[in-house]
This record gives sequence, structure tokens and C-alpha cells, in this order.
Amino acid sequence: MAQPNTNLLNMGPQELEGFFKSLGHQGFRAKQFMQWVYQRDMTEFSCMHDFPLDLRRQLDELASLPTLTVHTEKTSKDETIKWLLEMDDGNKIETVFIPDTKRGTLCISSQVGCALNCSFCATATQGFNRNLSTSEIVGQIMLAKRRLLELGSSHKITNIVMMGMGEPLLNLDNLIPALQIMRSDYAFGFAKRKVTVSTSGLVPAMDKLNAAVDVALAVSLHAPSDDLRTQLVPLNKKYPIAELLAACKRYCSIKKSNKVTIEYVMLAGVNDSVANARLLAKQLANVPCKVNLIPFNPFPGNNYNCSSSNAIMAFQRCLVERGYLTTVRRTRGPDIDAACGQLRGRLRDKTKRNARFKVTRQVVTVGRNLS
Ligand code: SF4
Repeated sequence: MAQPNTNLLNMGPQELEGFFKSLGHQGFRAKQFMQWVYQRDMTEFSCMHDFPLDLRRQLDELASLPTLTVHTEKTSKDETIKWLLEMDDGNKIETVFIPDTKRGTLCISSQVGCALNCSFCATATQGFNRNLSTSEIVGQIMLAKRRLLELGSSHKITNIVMMGMGEPLLNLDNLIPALQIMRSDYAFGFAKRKVTVSTSGLVPAMDKLNAAVDVALAVSLHAPSDDLRTQLVPLNKKYPIAELLAACKRYCSIKKSNKVTIEYVMLAGVNDSVANARLLAKQLANVPCKVNLIPFNPFPGNNYNCSSSNAIMAFQRCLVERGYLTTVRRTRGPDIDAACGQLRGRLRDKTKRNARFKVTRQVVTVGRNLS
């Protein structure tokens, strides 16, 4: 039985169908509802004119469609836009739109802060407060669409990357319905290669994600050996490189997803030598993948430096010579702290941590995020 103030944006396609049936209506109303809300940006139930009058009245009484509030909006010289979004409980998260000639990528957050303590990541310095709800995840897309329209932007959102604040796979229960909404032809309708989930390597959750929804996967590897990776991504202690790369192979074989993107942040003197590149090439043998090198973007309070252009080019050349498609990510929005690794948000309580994944920082330094 539906309760008053039921947040319909928290429901994936199947749950929505159940909701409409529970009100005594046919399941296809869920598809009509998604078209109204996610495609036509309609948030007034009374205007959903293909719904019978009694259904519109029921929705007015029982349902809600909460929206996120823009606390701050910053636009970079390169037209990247960063929004600091405020939620009902006062927590704030960041969402970034990166326009390009042929595409517009929206980088969205999955958690308020992050508990995984990657040593090169700004979000990690904030601690962890809570998971975002499904509504707060899809709400970032709804808000960005609306703001781009209001700004008169000629750019459209063509790609979604779950690379904002947080580790998406630690929020699987809310993430999966959100991804189903992104993929549904009745909702946002993004093709599977246009939605990328990035993870720091939660192996069991990678398999669950694979079984639940068809999206592209990016894995934050950042190091070719376990010793080094554990310093950078402490989660490596729990799921070392061999287990992680085996999970990548399963991800590609089950869904024929072609290739996983291996993300590798370039840290001067830490993980950027040609020897590191050679070892990385060996580790990636038989993993269907492409490699994305990410120049490190500094932020206050960290000790890392970005690798030199020469070091990045030498690293890339070494991988290319060994047959790996290797790209270097272009830094976007650094003047508004919107580049990879620079998102922070604002947490009301920075001390809550996910005890199960609490890990010790090994290098005192500092993720748009790199997970
Ligand atoms: S890089 Fe990603 S997983 Fe690691 S601390 Fe930052 S947000 Fe969390």
C-alpha cells in the first residue's frame, strides 16, 4: 500500500510498475510516468494528461518528486560547469558537466564523501557521511538537463560517468535502479556504452553489477603491483590485483562488454616509470581493456605531483607498443576545481565511516574522482 509522500524517483522501472498496480492501475502507467518525468521534465502530476483523473488525484495525494537544490554553480573557462548541490539533510555533493564538440559528459556522485581513503583523492579527505538515494543519483541528471536548458546551452548530455564523489559499488542497492532508469528507453535512454560505472575494485559487487544491468565499467587500477596499489588504493589489501583483473575478465566475458577501461592516475615519481608501464602491460595480458592515463590534478593538502608530459608520453608509448589502446585524459575545469580528483562537496558530519571498508592511509596525501 502506497504511503503519503512516496518518492517515485527512488523507484526503478520494476518497482514503479508495482507501485502503479498497487494503486489499482495497469503496469504500463510506469512507462508513461517515466516518459513524463525523465523525457519531458514534467513534475506536475496534474499535467500528465494521459493519466486518468483518479490516478492524477492519487498521485497528488500520495507521491512526491523531490528535486535537488543548486547551492553554487561555477563555469570554467573551458565551459565545464560544476554544481554544488544541496540535499534535504544539508549535505552537499558535486556534479560536473564536461562539454565537448561531439559530446557532453555528466560526471555524477554516488555517495556523500567516501570511506575508501585512496591516497590521491580529495573526496577521501572529507570522510564519509552516507549513500545517495536513487532519487539523488538520477536527480543530478534531471537538474543538469534543466540547468543546461535554462542557461541556453547548445550542449546536451550524451554520456554519464559515475566518477563523482564516492565509490558507486558501495551503494549498489540505490545505484542499480538509477542505472536502470538511465538505460530505459522510457526514461533517459542512454546506450550501454554511454553509461560508465567506475570502481576502485569491489570484486563481489562488480559481479553483482554485471548480473543486474548492462553498462560500461571503468576500474581504478593506478598501479601495476600490489605493494604500490595498496599504498594508493587501500582497498587493494582486500581485493588484490589478480582478483580484480579476473573480475574484469568475467565482466567482459559474461556481458560481451568488449573492454573495461583501466584508469591510471599519473603521479610523478610514484607510478609513472617505464618499468611501471612494462609491468602494467604484463598484468593486463588477456584482459580485454583499454587504458586511460589521468594526469593528476593537485589540490590543497596533498603531497603528490603530476607526472611530466614526457613521462606520460613515454608511459603511453610503452603500452601502445605492447598493443594496448591508451589514451591520456584531457584535464577539464581545473580553474573551478572540477577536474578529476578535485571534487569535495560538503559533508555535515565528516566522521561517519563505513566500518567494513575502513582502511589505513599509507601515504599522507590525497578523487573528479578517480574511482
Ligand atoms: S578515488 Fe573514488 S573510491 Fe577512492 S577515495 Fe576517492 S571517491 Fe573514494
